[in-house]
Amino acid sequence: MTLPKLPLNGALDPSTDGQGTTPGSFALAPDIGGSLSFASPDTPGMPAPSSQTAWDFMPTDWRQEQGRWFAPEGFTPVTQLEHARLGMITPEMRRVAEREGHLSAEQVMAEVAAGRMVIPANRRHLEFQLDPTAIGRASRTKVNANMGASPVSSGTEAEVEKLLWAERWSADTVMDLSTGGDLDATREAILKASHVPIGTVPIYSMIVGRSLDDLNEEVILDTLRHQAEQGVDYFTVHAGLRMAHVPLVAHRVAGIISRGGSLLAKWMLDHDAENPMYACFEAMCDVMREYDVTFSLGDGLRPGALADATDAAQLAELTTLGELTERAWRKGCQVMVEGPGHVPFDQIEYNMKLERALCHGAPFYVLGPLVTDVFPGYDHLTSAIGATAAAYHGAAMLCYVTPKEHLGLPKKEDVKQGCVAYRVAAHAADVALGIPGSRDWDDQLSKARAALNWEKHFELAFDTDTARALHDEDLDVDTDFCAMCGHDWCSVRISKEISEFAAGNAEGFARERVLKSPGLTEAQRAILEERGNLPAEELHRLAGKTAFAVGAGEGKAACHSDVSDDDTAARVQQRELVQIRRPAPSGPSA
Ligand code: SF4
Repeated sequence: MTLPKLPLNGALDPSTDGQGTTPGSFALAPDIGGSLSFASPDTPGMPAPSSQTAWDFMPTDWRQEQGRWFAPEGFTPVTQLEHARLGMITPEMRRVAEREGHLSAEQVMAEVAAGRMVIPANRRHLEFQLDPTAIGRASRTKVNANMGASPVSSGTEAEVEKLLWAERWSADTVMDLSTGGDLDATREAILKASHVPIGTVPIYSMIVGRSLDDLNEEVILDTLRHQAEQGVDYFTVHAGLRMAHVPLVAHRVAGIISRGGSLLAKWMLDHDAENPMYACFEAMCDVMREYDVTFSLGDGLRPGALADATDAAQLAELTTLGELTERAWRKGCQVMVEGPGHVPFDQIEYNMKLERALCHGAPFYVLGPLVTDVFPGYDHLTSAIGATAAAYHGAAMLCYVTPKEHLGLPKKEDVKQGCVAYRVAAHAADVALGIPGSRDWDDQLSKARAALNWEKHFELAFDTDTARALHDEDLDVDTDFCAMCGHDWCSVRISKEISEFAAGNAEGFARERVLKSPGLTEAQRAILEERGNLPAEELHRLAGKTAFAVGAGEGKAACHSDVSDDDTAARVQQRELVQIRRPAPSGPSA
């Protein structure tokens, strides 16, 4: 049978040097400067991208002459968007280009001007340690980590520790969602210690210490001003949840699961009045513009169960978020839009492409989404699956979900698990989209793996400590196989020994001989001791099964190549470990 043609659409090779034999990415040809910078091909029935951008929603007092826009006399640009509209490259745009690698500063400026990219960098926060980062589909996919003290758990010191821990595990932004403890002190400490943009949901501070009834325009604007002055880089505001949307949730299985959304819905019903955040949206824009705080337009009606996904309430709110995007752009503010939540896998692409249409390509910042509801304790996994699909189909930033989701406040280890799961999702999507250079890291690690160069393998691993600990749990020597298959079954070793093959022979990756493991560090030892629910002694007893199997007793197994010659190792393996029948080995690699 003739194979069907490969679905190559002109995407760039994610490997800088075109490593390996893969035909590369099946995504669309890149269109930086257009609406499909890095994009998946549309499944039939998907909404087309909007034909409009932020250029179509300019401040009413600006004028256009010969294709260029001019601000009124005496105008001083403040936000990244205003600078970009005037053709000015800011130091933050230059830094973003440097960090992204595949974008020039001019391209960053063009994407910011079109509203497809944001650089959340409050002018105050830039005075501390903020390293500017970009969120947009032309740049690499970003990951946000949520944290924050609750009324029953944690405090300022613990939250700063979690922030640094999230940065250690590659979070690109962090949201402080504190609802307990000293909110102001925690926020200030996080802003001073952070290198990444910090987001908040200001309605939490508006409610703490006062009745929901007292929420009004003055409280809203004062709180925004105070947090902007502190240096917060982006605000989640649930301004798109309108009075008319509330009845649409009446028959939902899970109702309103956004904290901000449920508070505002209650306020609207109690007061029989429109959402005050919607009502004073322009005034909020004025405060945010002053410090260049980016909008993260919240999805107060995001589905909290698969049964409520892509329903009328969610889509009605998203339509309003499109309207608010246009209004914020007219006021010179940077905007990203928040998205769901709990969405079955088959509906993810539609959700991403609908936002692209309704919000004119403004960066989509999604929570998960979780693709099933029945794995509490493992929702970092259920959601990372959805997040990978979301990023491939258009989301620019993924808000992590930790194993504690739905169950409690994440602790340090949960933060790490969430960050790791979401870095996997973001990276997998970047490679799939053909973002230049995104596969280089994979190629390097694959070469080290093929060469059985364990030191390099672990050095390149995202989590060096865990990779080393898991390897050494069963085999504490860096030899030409690992405990998963053993010497005789090690396909990597066999492949490497076929001289016609390139595998395992990349220059600079070969290692000379069997090496003793450098030994486990404290962190690696702790990883082994914390594994699963078994007591440490039991784990070590199980981990030593290879040694018991070969009768090596207490010491190192006789098949370990640094304590035994190759013939002996092969004999021991043949006798005790190898499951297939074959003639006695005549040499080390037989
Ligand atoms: S023993 Fe198996 S898992 Fe280990 S390196 Fe060889 S092929 Fe890979």
